[in-house]
Amino acid sequence: MGDELKCLVVVAHPDDESIWMGGTILRHTDWEWHVLSLCRADDADRAPRFHRAARELGARGYISDLDDSPIPAPLTENFAQIKERVRGVASEGFDLVFTHGAEGEYTYHARHAQTHRAVREMIADGELAGALFVFAYHDLGGAARPRPAADADIAIDLTPTQFERKRRIVRDIYGFGPGSFEFDSAGPVEAFNVPDGSQQPRVVAGLCAGLVRDRGRTLQPRTECGDREPPPRLVCFAFSLFRAFAIGIHLPWLGNRSCVS
Ligand SMILES: [Zn+2]
Repeated sequence: MGDELKCLVVVAHPDDESIWMGGTILRHTDWEWHVLSLCRADDADRAPRFHRAARELGARGYISDLDDSPIPAPLTENFAQIKERVRGVASEGFDLVFTHGAEGEYTYHARHAQTHRAVREMIADGELAGALFVFAYHDLGGAARPRPAADADIAIDLTPTQFERKRRIVRDIYGFGPGSFEFDSAGPVEAFNVPDGSQQPRVVAGLCAGLVRDRGRTLQPRTECGDREPPPRLVCFAFSLFRAFAIGIHLPWLGNRSCVS
């Protein structure tokens, strides 16, 4: 697997992609992103906003027209519909697939949970190829705005620029200002769980540049992923002394090395 990954994001609604993982998409602009919103294709207000957001994210956007009423159709029927929509954009395999968490991100949206189950089943059945990541947020049973789960497998710190770009999409494209549920839920940390532990190598290859937590697993630490941190100052100082000494006794090949600071 090369550096450029092909990724599929399946969400229930236009704006879910930006609120829960817009920063992660913006963090990897060199990857190929496909974003499917299952609902609201027939919404004259939200559908065009979704396409604008997809453009801003550098993603190819697809939007469908699944029922978005408060009490959606029975689960089995929904599964068939969701899978059919996913098949429509997923004729080839993906490296990474992202979707909602098992319980949704807040209390409680049936569409989010159904989407999770349908996508997860498709991967388990071999109908959809890709390492699965699911959003890991909770809202304390409805007592607070959704926030990253403390025990999430992966939590990605957005840079201030990524965070601001994500908020701009939520605010300026979707029209949700400060104080709204959507704006306040779009935080600076994006969290994911990896339901299938055997996918770890792909996880490392895919998202390690943003790893800040790993819940005690053996995921590769961020310093191994290209975000190499400078060595401690004391090490630099000792190396400088050694280098000066080495040059002094005519070992110039050592003098070519530099200590990052
Ligand atoms: Zn939603």
